[in-house]
Amino acid sequence: MSERHSPQTLCDEWFQTHPPVKPPHKMIQRHGRGPTGKRCKDCQHLYVKQLAGRYYKCALFGDTNGPGTDWRCGRDACGQFAEKGTGNDE
Ligand code: SF4
Repeated sequence: MSERHSPQTLCDEWFQTHPPVKPPHKMIQRHGRGPTGKRCKDCQHLYVKQLAGRYYKCALFGDTNGPGTDWRCGRDACGQFAEKGTGNDE
């Protein structure tokens, strides 16, 4: 006879083996993925806004002067990625 599991136990087991997949950020949704292994910190479109704190922004994503446009340096690069130091820096 097979062992019976409660639905909650089955759900818990399923989530342990199938962790939630994080959706790609909005710039990847718009422009696709950038070069493999590249991060926003490597892109010339990322800049720092220095106010009371340091706020990273993507120049192509925009800046609303609020947290909605704060950007994380470690995000995967999008299709608009432009390598820093290639002579095309803004
Ligand atoms: S890689 Fe894309 S999202 Fe990241 S800073 Fe550059 S343009 Fe912005």
